[in-house]
Amino acid sequence: MDGALHVWMHDINDRQEALEALRRSALFDSLTSLPNLTLFRDLITERLARTPSEGVTLIMLQLDGLQIVNTSFGRDAADVVLMSAVSRLRDLVRPPAILARIGNQRFAALLTDPPDELAAMREAETIRKALSAPIQHGEMSVVLSHCIGIAVAAEDSRDADDLMQHAEAALARARSIGKNRTELFAREMHLEIRRRLEVEADLRGALERREFRLYYQPLVSLASGEVVGFEALVRWQHPARGLIAPGEFISVAEESELIVPLGRWVLNEGLRQLSCWSAEHDAFAGMRLSVNVSPVQFAGDDFLEVVDAALAQTGIEPRRLVLELTESVLMRDAERTHELFTKLRGRGVRLAMDDFGTGYSSLSYMQRFTMDSLKIDRAFIDGLEGDRQKLAIVKTILSLSDNFEMTTTAEGIETRDQLEIVVDLGCQFGQGYFLARPTPASEIPTLIQRWHPEKGRTTTGTQR
Ligand code: C2E
Ligand code: MG
Ligand code: MG
Repeated sequence: MDGALHVWMHDINDRQEALEALRRSALFDSLTSLPNLTLFRDLITERLARTPSEGVTLIMLQLDGLQIVNTSFGRDAADVVLMSAVSRLRDLVRPPAILARIGNQRFAALLTDPPDELAAMREAETIRKALSAPIQHGEMSVVLSHCIGIAVAAEDSRDADDLMQHAEAALARARSIGKNRTELFAREMHLEIRRRLEVEADLRGALERREFRLYYQPLVSLASGEVVGFEALVRWQHPARGLIAPGEFISVAEESELIVPLGRWVLNEGLRQLSCWSAEHDAFAGMRLSVNVSPVQFAGDDFLEVVDAALAQTGIEPRRLVLELTESVLMRDAERTHELFTKLRGRGVRLAMDDFGTGYSSLSYMQRFTMDSLKIDRAFIDGLEGDRQKLAIVKTILSLSDNFEMTTTAEGIETRDQLEIVVDLGCQFGQGYFLARPTPASEIPTLIQRWHPEKGRTTTGTQR
C-alpha cells in the first residue's frame, strides 16, 4: 500500500476508534459498562414501540450505603462493592431484559417478560434476596440496603418519560417508608405527580401576578415576654384555591428553581415591611426579621449579593436580619457553606438552624459551622407535657446550644404547659400559636400595640 494512503487509512481507523470510544462513553457507564440513562431511555422507547405496551415493566433500584463505604474505606473499596452488587444483578437480569446504571447508586431493569405486576413483584423479591447477602472484600463485609420502585407500562404511560416518572414515584414512595422496600406504582401517585405539575404551572406566573403574601409570626423573649422579632412565612393567594400554605408549594418551587426568585421576593418584601414598621412605630426599634432560606436558594451563586442588595435597599442593619437554614444546607458543599457563613456573619447577619433535631444534627457540623441560634423543632415541643423522652431531648438540645454559645428558640408552643416547661428549662425564645399565630402584615402594628401598651413595659408570655 502506498505510504501516504496507509497513513491516511491509519488516521481514519484512529478517528473511528476515537469516535467509537466517544460514542461508548456517551452511552455507557465507564465503571460497569452498563447502558447509561441516555441510552436506557432510547432502549425503553424502542421496546415500547416494538412490544404491546402491557408487556413492558420497569424496575428501578436505589442502593444505599455506598457513601459510607466510600468515606470509611475509600473510593476503590466502594467501586469493588458496587461491582459485586452489579454482578449479582447481571445474573438475574438477563437479555432480552436490559440492565442499566441510570445514576450514581441507581439502576434500572427493563423487563419484557413479566406479563403482570405480580410477576414483577416476584422479580423484585429475587433481586432483594440476592442483594441482602453480605458483600465480602478483604476484611470488609458490607450489606447494602436498597429500595425498589416498579412501574408497568399501561394506557397512561405511553412513552419512556412516563414510565421512568412512574417508577421514580414508586421508588420515592418506597424510600419514604423505609429500607429494603419495594413499591408498585399506583394511580394515586400519578395524581400526585399531576397535582405537582399543575402547581408548578400555576406557580410560574404567580410572582408577576403578585399572588404571594407574607404573614408574620412573633418571636418572643421568654425571659421578658417581649416580642423581639418576627418570622416571615410565605402564603400563596391562589385566585381559585384561596390561601395556600407553603407546605404545598415550597418543594415544587425548589424542584423547578422557582424558589430562587420567590425567596428573593420574600427577603426584599420582609425587610421592606420591617423598615416601614420601624419608621412608623417606636415599638419596632431593634426588632428582627427571620427569613427562611431554601438550600436551593443558598446554593445560588448570587445569594450573598441578593442579601446585600436587600439590606442596602431597605437600610435595615444586618444584625436585624436572621436567616433560617435547615441542617440539609450543611450537608452540601461544605467548603462554600463555610465561606458564605463567614461572610454573612462578618456583615453581622445572624444565622439560625431551623427545625433542629429532624435532620442530620451531626455534632461535627455544629462545630464546624458557627451559627447564632438554634430552633428546636415543633415535633419535640408537641406533647412535651407528658413525654419524658421529649423532655430529655429538649434538655439535651438546650445544653448543646448553650455549649456552642447559641441561643435557643422553642418552635410550635401550643399550650401554657409547654410554655412553662420551656421557660423553666431556660430556653431564651419562643414561637407558637399559644403566643401568637402567623399574622398578616396589616394586623401586626395593632398586635404589637396590645402586646406592649406602653413602650418599655414588659409582660409575661401568656398573652393571646
Ligand atoms: P418553619 O420555618 O419551621 O416555620 C414554622 C411553621 O410552623 C410555620 O408553618 C408556622 O405557621 C408553624 N407554626 C408556628 N407555630 C405553630 C404552632 O404552635 N403549632 C403548629 N402546629 N404550627 C405552628 P408554615 O407557615 O405553614 O410554614 C411551613 C414551612 O414552610 C416553614 O417551616 C418553612 O420551612 C417553609 N417556609 C415558609 N415560608 C418560607 C419562605 O419564605 N421560604 C422558604 N424557603 N420556606 C418557607
Ligand atoms: Mg423557619
Ligand atoms: Mg421550623
